[in-house]
Amino acid sequence: MVASLYGIEQENKAIWVFLEQEKGVLEPVSLELLTKGREMADQIGWSLAGLLLGNNVESLTAQAFSHGADQVYLADHPLLEPFTIEAYSHVVFDGVMDAKPSVFLFGATPNGRDLAARLAVRFRTGLNADCTDLRLDIQGDLLVSEVSGFGGGVLALIEMRHHRPQMATVRPGVFSVSQTTPRQKPGVIPLPVALTEEMIRTRILHRVVGEVADLSRAPILVAGGRGIQNNFEMTQELADIMGGEVGGTRPLVDEGFIPRERQIGQTGVVCSPKLSICLGISGAFHFIVGIDKADTVISINSDPEAPIFEYSDYCIVADANQIIPELIAALRPVEEVHHA
Ligand SMILES: Cc1cc2nc3c(=O)[nH]c(=O)nc-3n(C[C@H](O)[C@H](O)[C@H](O)COP(=O)(O)OP(=O)(O)OC[C@H]3O[C@@H](n4cnc5c(N)ncnc54)[C@H](O)[C@@H]3O)c2cc1C
Repeated sequence: MVASLYGIEQENKAIWVFLEQEKGVLEPVSLELLTKGREMADQIGWSLAGLLLGNNVESLTAQAFSHGADQVYLADHPLLEPFTIEAYSHVVFDGVMDAKPSVFLFGATPNGRDLAARLAVRFRTGLNADCTDLRLDIQGDLLVSEVSGFGGGVLALIEMRHHRPQMATVRPGVFSVSQTTPRQKPGVIPLPVALTEEMIRTRILHRVVGEVADLSRAPILVAGGRGIQNNFEMTQELADIMGGEVGGTRPLVDEGFIPRERQIGQTGVVCSPKLSICLGISGAFHFIVGIDKADTVISINSDPEAPIFEYSDYCIVADANQIIPELIAALRPVEEVHHA
């Protein structure tokens, strides 16, 4: 077994969270990880630190402290704007090798995934990707990462007994966010930045930012499955009337009814809405992963034995294609009804 660059004997009992920011705005998943990190650190008596890189981003440390960080390691440098994998991996590598945290968490965003994977190889440690839950084994000082495996058929609990840091990525929306009173003496620890332009091979020439709705944070989600057949437009209309976002199961994405960024589930978006309405969806495990954090689930399915009902607060056995227009008519604003 290849040893990691540092081991259990040298580790510091600390949880680190990569605080991803874009143009001076923290990614919400970083705050979700801080919230979860605080909970775990309190259980085991460890410290919680954020790692923040960017240019003129020091003001973001206050947000990290109000979400539970004891310290923020800060690398502030013009060459850290924007994110480039060479610059970020170089600075983070040095910072981690200096402080040797036991646990290091990342949001499973494109940049978070990129950075975590590259660093795991450099540290010669493992990386639990796309975790659906995290906890600490207090007796063993181990991070326990929940990962779904074999196409979602099993949930695996993975521990890294010998390698450090114990690294994991978690998708946005898996954990909730809560604020806390900042610690008594939160500290900003500057990280040295030994970067030159020549070290950065990536040149960003042009950025195209698509208009993609963030389903992971929508308070109302209306999701359609194969059972709604070709009635996706009606499902969209229902979502619009309710002020929610529309999503769907993978078959609807594969058949081209909805864009991929609106797929809910294990290989799509993990949502945590207050209300989720599931129309003509069977309730396969792969889909359920995407809605099981919803406060209330209402499902409409013509099959009384549909597995989705096991996860639903309100179960309606009916033809969704009949119910959707009735719901739209009932919820349509009164003025529109008068004009119709
Ligand atoms: C590795 C892997 C990853 C996957 N990732 C995802 C993922 O992220 N998201 C995802 O959604 N799927 C994912 N899948 C696919 C998943 O396993 C299911 O196949 C899929 O979720 C089923 O979609 P569905 O419920 O729309 O269709 P079906 O399973 O075909 O269910 C259709 C349902 O509609 C009901 N119905 C039919 N007619 C009506 C009607 N008129 N009114 C009301 N109800 C009706 C039926 O009773 C049935 O329950 C993944 C699969 C694999 C192998």
